[in-house]
Amino acid sequence: MDAKSKLSKVVGAKNFSDDPAKLQAYATDFSYYPAGAPNYVAKPATSEEVSEIVKICNENNIPVVPCSSKVHFYGATIPKEGGLVLDMSRMDKILEIDPDNRRVRFEAGVTWDKLTNELKKKGFRVIMPLTPPAERSVLTDFMEREEPTNQVYDYGEPLQAMEVVWPTGEVFRMGSASVNGYPDSPSKGGNPSGPGLDFYRFFQCAQGTMGVVTWTNLKMEFIPKMDKVLFARIDDLDYAMDFLHRILPRRIGQEVVLLNQVDLAAILAQEWPADFDKLKTALPPWTLILVISGLLRRPEEKIAYEENFLAQVLRDEFSNLRLGENLPGFPGLRNKLLPILRNPWPADVPHWKNQVKGACQGLFFHTRPGKAQHFVTKVKEIATRYGYPASDIGIYIQPIEHNRACRPEFTFFYDPANEAEKATIRALYKEAAAELLKDGAVFTRPYGDLAPIVYEKAASYAANLKRLKKVFDPNNIMNPSNLCF
Ligand SMILES: Cc1cc2nc3c(=O)[nH]c(=O)nc-3n(C[C@H](O)[C@H](O)[C@H](O)COP(=O)(O)OP(=O)(O)OC[C@H]3O[C@@H](n4cnc5c(N)ncnc54)[C@H](O)[C@@H]3O)c2cc1C
Repeated sequence: MDAKSKLSKVVGAKNFSDDPAKLQAYATDFSYYPAGAPNYVAKPATSEEVSEIVKICNENNIPVVPCSSKVHFYGATIPKEGGLVLDMSRMDKILEIDPDNRRVRFEAGVTWDKLTNELKKKGFRVIMPLTPPAERSVLTDFMEREEPTNQVYDYGEPLQAMEVVWPTGEVFRMGSASVNGYPDSPSKGGNPSGPGLDFYRFFQCAQGTMGVVTWTNLKMEFIPKMDKVLFARIDDLDYAMDFLHRILPRRIGQEVVLLNQVDLAAILAQEWPADFDKLKTALPPWTLILVISGLLRRPEEKIAYEENFLAQVLRDEFSNLRLGENLPGFPGLRNKLLPILRNPWPADVPHWKNQVKGACQGLFFHTRPGKAQHFVTKVKEIATRYGYPASDIGIYIQPIEHNRACRPEFTFFYDPANEAEKATIRALYKEAAAELLKDGAVFTRPYGDLAPIVYEKAASYAANLKRLKKVFDPNNIMNPSNLCF
């Protein structure tokens, strides 16, 4: 039997295809990266099927591109060397909801829509990035380390033990999932990272180059009993960062985000483009959004404590900041914003990032909060040089780890049908990334054009990564031509 027949037999003919029309769906995404169709697509239903497919591909040197979401922004699932797309969308089971250990175990194809809805029924939620598309895989967002808007929980890393299929086809369980009898073992996976080694950093941000993750455990939290959404107009970014530095280490607030007028206008607009244009002009340069919440026990007292603390800090140290339940000029915003922060972006409405001009390119990295203003000035300067108006850049700053660090994200919107505009954005993006890297920006997720820029600066690191990769993926079948592989 040839490789194609063997692959088709594993998942069944109706879950396998080499029809060019069907393969076209995997050839492009919302990024500017060139199209690259696979030769086959297979949709496995179990870890065993994943393992069988990977084994056949390894024996036959067929590249494997794991693909769990239906929405992609960074070109990481576009096959660069053909091969087989392993579409994980059929593996969409929520395997366990474990209230005692506050964790949920689910497969790679489980979407934000499904997980948030199922957990809501039981009074739980998982912390989430800003407006993840409803059809994105939750597992991949955490694998990619999308920063959650909620940074109050001390575990920092909500992703825990998981099951993976190595590039040679072996199934491997890590961390607490490695004990005999799991998931019916006495601890039920309650110990987050023991007794086995937790290899999750090995797979995180690896863009599918290290193996296929089939399911994971994720921390979950109670849905707050009470919330207050607070807003502040921000004119001076450094001042806002100092304020966050004062309050976030005290574990004040749940969700906290800083958005410039372009991003906030795009998130809030309903009538396009009229609302967007109006809001973009009317909103302040930056808006700080801080949600304070009372959880399960004594919610009123918790909120009162946080409000008192905030009032004291504002009065004594930050008298230029007006933090209140209303953003002046925008009545009713608090009722509108909380559902936006707590739910995925609905599947039937184009994502706000694509509403502006049809497509966008995001440039994001980690830095110290004190350097955020520097990077904002720098990106605006570079964009202006390329003829991209500084006032059209979407900017979102996510404080992380109690404001020890932050993640600025710059979004350049463009018309995907305009090839010249697309080329300009690509050139601008590459130059900005190189310049920012020189200034100390940390790119934890080097997609596409970023990879050579980042790895060139870390020769010994890249050499060690390649050595490690060879151990686990001797034939380099896993998503080749990504990162430094
Ligand atoms: C909100 C938050 C809270 C945190 N809290 C804590 C804390 O309390 N204590 C703590 O110790 N750490 C904490 N961390 C983690 C810490 O900040 C760093 O993320 C971590 O130390 C990175 O080191 P590393 O050795 O795991 O990865 P590095 O070796 O620095 O690698 C960086 C990235 O490259 C990837 N990578 C690494 N090796 C490989 C490989 N061989 N192949 C492919 N990809 C690879 C990883 O996926 C990783 O994301 C926190 C992180 C966050 C975001």
